[in-house]
Amino acid sequence: MPPRFPNPARYDTMTYRRCGASGVLLPAISLGLWHNFGAVDPFATARATVRRAFDLGITHFDLGNNYGPPPGSAETTFGRILRRDLARHRDELIVSTKAGWDMWPGPYGNWGSRKYLLASLDQSLRRMGLEYVDIFYHHRPDPDTPLMESMGALADVVRAGKALYVGISAYPPDLTRRAATILASLGTRCLIHQPKYSMLVREPEEGLLDTLQELGIGCIGFSPLAQGLLTDRYFKGIPKDSRAAKPHGYLKRDEVTDAVRKKMLRLNEIARARRQSLAQMALAWTLRHPSVTSTIIGASRPAHVADAVGALSNTTFSPDELAAIDRVLEGNEAR
Ligand code: NDP
Repeated sequence: MPPRFPNPARYDTMTYRRCGASGVLLPAISLGLWHNFGAVDPFATARATVRRAFDLGITHFDLGNNYGPPPGSAETTFGRILRRDLARHRDELIVSTKAGWDMWPGPYGNWGSRKYLLASLDQSLRRMGLEYVDIFYHHRPDPDTPLMESMGALADVVRAGKALYVGISAYPPDLTRRAATILASLGTRCLIHQPKYSMLVREPEEGLLDTLQELGIGCIGFSPLAQGLLTDRYFKGIPKDSRAAKPHGYLKRDEVTDAVRKKMLRLNEIARARRQSLAQMALAWTLRHPSVTSTIIGASRPAHVADAVGALSNTTFSPDELAAIDRVLEGNEAR
């Protein structure tokens, strides 16, 4: 007999963390659908990956208007999975989407105008077959649109009931502060910020994480595995089915250098001493910071999700471990 879906014990082991000073709890590990859920990808694998995630207590699925390829198709795929498997569980899910990057031709399909943000969210809702999303993000700052206009659009989607909460992505600390102030003046909380954060991208440590903590805004880091570099995926070369080998992947072949591989193998030794895979240690490392609510993984198969959730059995680091990791990352090792 196939195992029962969903797993009745799905909420027993996952860790849920409060999103800033809000009422929302997010799973420590969330699943993102940027890659591997487009119309070009096998639906059966996409479906199995989402089901596995839900079975393991992952309640948060992160999308964007442009995820695919082609753009929009990840939302369509997710809508199909929702209808087949999760329709009865809508109230157990936090579904997010975003607008801010190039989506459709002409002057109204990109950046941060009210015209673009409102139309894009309506399109996303249609593709997913949803009446509302839980979180709607402005995907990146727009230097040419008044911040008041972009934030005003976010506040209005909450008022219209099309999003329960709003967030921002890739905003620097000073702009985050201004955006949060504007949203508050319009009666809407900035729930969450989504920065790129991993052992290889530590920029949020230079002010953003402290700002978010001060403002009571949650933080969900993206690409915590540096698109697969911080895993065993590239230890022996570039596998044919990996992101670096794909023409539409954002990880380029020439980013997988011998120097990177050498560092990853050293980090893997530290991970093994912690009884973790490199991926698990990389995820636990992002979660060590008190400002971080959740970390959003990508996955090309259900096993990646299970490996990620395994990280939660060891999320503490000794000062010696952290120092050893820093030495590898900075290339200052004695050996
Ligand atoms: P990751 O850094 O987690 O990379 C995911 C890739 O790593 C997978 O596709 C897979 O590569 C590999 N991988 C994952 N787990 C394992 C494992 N256990 N063992 C070996 N390899 C593994 O995240 P993404 O770059 O995919 O980003 C995650 C999410 O973050 C996105 O889906 C999106 O929701 C969000 N995001 C947000 C952005 C923003 O601007 N706000 C921008 C980018 C992402 P392979 O496919 O080769 O198997």
